[in-house]
Amino acid sequence: MMPMPSRATVTTPVRRGTSNRNIRGSSKDRAARRLWLVNTFGDGEFVDCQLRATPDCWVAMTQWTVSADRIVPGALGGSYRRGNIRPACPPCQCRTGGLLGASQAKARSQAP
Ligand SMILES: [Zn+2]
Repeated sequence: MMPMPSRATVTTPVRRGTSNRNIRGSSKDRAARRLWLVNTFGDGEFVDCQLRATPDCWVAMTQWTVSADRIVPGALGGSYRRGNIRPACPPCQCRTGGLLGASQAKARSQAP
């Protein structure tokens, strides 16, 4: 019979402050979300970026190239629910996310 491990040997993993777990969902959830974006905002096959934040913005993205942009950003508590997402291309995602991060960092540095 195997001896039970004593309480002292059971360690809990060290957690960082942030986690991405279960927010974006599984790969199946994400594929279904992208398909919904293409069907809802596009013609079922292609969809255009709605952010239009960069000169190299992508048009005619497919289910496999579109990404979901949260209208209320995750940093402000926004979820990936239908109604809070819109189709976006990776260059615009990077740009708007970077601008949000920079504005938050600036606000933190100016806080009393
Ligand atoms: Zn774009």
